[in-house]
Amino acid sequence: MDYYVKDIALAEKGKKEVELTLGDMPGLVQLERMYSDKKPLQGIKITGCVIVTYETAAFIMLLKKMGAELRWCSDNKYASLDDACAYVASEGVPIFATSELTDEKYFWCMEQAAKFPVEGKDFAWPDIIIDDGCDITRFLHEKYPESYDNLKGTCEQTTCGINAHHNLKKEGKLKTAVINVNESITKSKFDNIYGSRESLIEGIQATVNVQIGGKRAVIYGYGEVGKGCAKVLRGLGADVCIVEIDPIMAMQAKMEGFEILSREEAAKTGEIFITATGCIRTIAEQDLVLMKDRAILMNMGHGNMEVDTDFLLRSGKFEVEKINEGLKKIKISQERSLFLLADGYLINLVGGNGHPPRVMSITYTNHVLAILEILNNPGKYQKGGISRMPRLLDEQAARLNFPDISEKLTILTDEQGKYLGFTKEGPFKREDYEY
Ligand code: NAD
Repeated sequence: MDYYVKDIALAEKGKKEVELTLGDMPGLVQLERMYSDKKPLQGIKITGCVIVTYETAAFIMLLKKMGAELRWCSDNKYASLDDACAYVASEGVPIFATSELTDEKYFWCMEQAAKFPVEGKDFAWPDIIIDDGCDITRFLHEKYPESYDNLKGTCEQTTCGINAHHNLKKEGKLKTAVINVNESITKSKFDNIYGSRESLIEGIQATVNVQIGGKRAVIYGYGEVGKGCAKVLRGLGADVCIVEIDPIMAMQAKMEGFEILSREEAAKTGEIFITATGCIRTIAEQDLVLMKDRAILMNMGHGNMEVDTDFLLRSGKFEVEKINEGLKKIKISQERSLFLLADGYLINLVGGNGHPPRVMSITYTNHVLAILEILNNPGKYQKGGISRMPRLLDEQAARLNFPDISEKLTILTDEQGKYLGFTKEGPFKREDYEY
């Protein structure tokens, strides 16, 4: 049995959910039409280390139909969907993920996903890695540096993962060619801004029953994720304030009408706190001790490191009461208790269903286009390099995911094309254009 899932009997339920989800993943449907006969991934070993949701399962099935040999694990110890995992396993794809993993099991799962059984040999390493957070890249790097000999490339899908790859590069340890799927325009706008905008509230409401309108909500970080969060909270009538380190981001927030607060002011006056920075201890002891009674804290950024959960949950200083699976009440003093959502992990993923299908369709379309780009251009992407997707592919991801818009686009005349310096086929912006 070449899989590790919680309950294979959940496969039928998972299948129905994945089919439903695929209904709003036009990019994946179009890619299947284009490539399921041609099978451009035949003979290619792909290891994925991405949380298994219904959308991920649909993506895995697409890669399989394109001919890939796959093995999969999750970068997230807590949020994979057991029925989605069971469905993937039932389709014959070796998958090693459940909704709850210990640290030890989590690393074991990564190892299983990276080792491809080969007749006559113990195993082979992957040709391509699809990573989320640089988790499996770092794991393999530390434990099996030889696994990189064969690797043609890694597609990384998150901001933190890209930062981690850059750190590996700085240390001279990056042994793979990385395609930065995270910063594809179509991915970063849709996943980070619109995905967060769509999924934050679901995560909050599934965990704690709270009215958002009329409350002061503090968002730490006005990047892509912070912008999405700010917009949806304002839509519900919250008084949204921003804490930033970067004057340009703070200026953008100000121009959108959000108040910029100092870290101290924010801690003293906020009622709902959301981190979206990718930075450790964005909310730490110095903030927590100032917060009002019944303040609600959650993280939309990376892992569980943005709110100092070591201090809150593990320092032994406070009484911690579990209210439900995703909600803890922490008595910080005689008068004041704080509420922590999802133990400081991503509230939209752990508390809710994460990004909606269309958003993930765009992310996964980018992965497919990135994999084909690496395979079709040997030598173009060198080991140790981190490259963005060519803009034309980014535009293709938009076309594939919004076929209705695509049909209505104006086609440049020859005269206009010459004037602007672009061809009719695109790309329609210079590489350095900031969307
Ligand atoms: P970004 O770089 O665009 O924005 C982060 C912002 O935080 C920047 O403007 C930066 O100046 C600010 N910042 C950094 N440290 C800070 C600090 N200590 N205090 C206040 N502000 C600070 O990044 P992004 O694309 O918005 O992603 C943010 C995080 O969210 C990343 O960790 C990313 O992996 C994660 N993410 C989460 C989801 C989700 O579904 N919840 C989706 C996409 C990305």
